[in-house]
Amino acid sequence: MFKRKRLVLLGLVIIAVIFSCAAFLRSHYSVPILMYHSVSPEPNPYMKLLTVKPETFRRQMRFLKERHYNVVPLVEIADLIKNNKKIPPRTLAITFDDGFKDNYTYAFPMLKEYNFPATIFVVINEIGRPEQDRLSWDDIAVMQASGLITFGVHTLTHPYLPGATSQAALQKEIAGSKKILEEKLGRKADSFCYPGGRFDAKSRQAVIAAGYSVAVASNPGKRFADNDVFALKRIRISENCANLFIFWVETSGYYNFMRESKYKK
Ligand SMILES: [Zn+2]
Repeated sequence: MFKRKRLVLLGLVIIAVIFSCAAFLRSHYSVPILMYHSVSPEPNPYMKLLTVKPETFRRQMRFLKERHYNVVPLVEIADLIKNNKKIPPRTLAITFDDGFKDNYTYAFPMLKEYNFPATIFVVINEIGRPEQDRLSWDDIAVMQASGLITFGVHTLTHPYLPGATSQAALQKEIAGSKKILEEKLGRKADSFCYPGGRFDAKSRQAVIAAGYSVAVASNPGKRFADNDVFALKRIRISENCANLFIFWVETSGYYNFMRESKYKK
């Protein structure tokens, strides 16, 4: 009799532990949004630390495909968050910053092969500057026509937005750039990316006022909410993630929590 009581008690403790673990995991999950810059065999001189080799990129894409990740356009994630909908398991978005030519040369063919959508954030005044290794308008048109690539705005000149000296300057970088991209692409540009991931209340407000539906940062820290669709946190992918164990951790949905646990702020 006594033995049975102990067994029941042990069972209850196990159930309680399982429930609290599940609740802990649920509350610390944030949908992974990957932030790439360059994909190139040689380190991009403008982006040395953030160049991923094409073979690494391929292994990462294969990893996502084989593990049945649900790779969706960035705006879809923002919609799910805004409408308080359940995010399907293994949902993930791929983004690229700065609009480097190698996105077209190396990443785009692989994204097509794996049928993965991605968002590329272009610096409007840098488009078509071969000396800066940037995409041309023709490259952009071809990628947009594929239906897989969405173009987002990364300002006109890539300034430090919290340092903007006037509201007019902020407007030009955030709303002016949107208008130019929309006219060139013939479609709405809904997504925005803060240069260097840096933003403040003013620039965030200017993004909302300009009519964007989503904006991404890098990871500003745990003081900032995971579900702010006007400052979504992203995971920086570098050649370090050639190690697929690291890539697995980074795409788990718990990387932001792990990273933030390391820092006080
Ligand atoms: Zn940038």
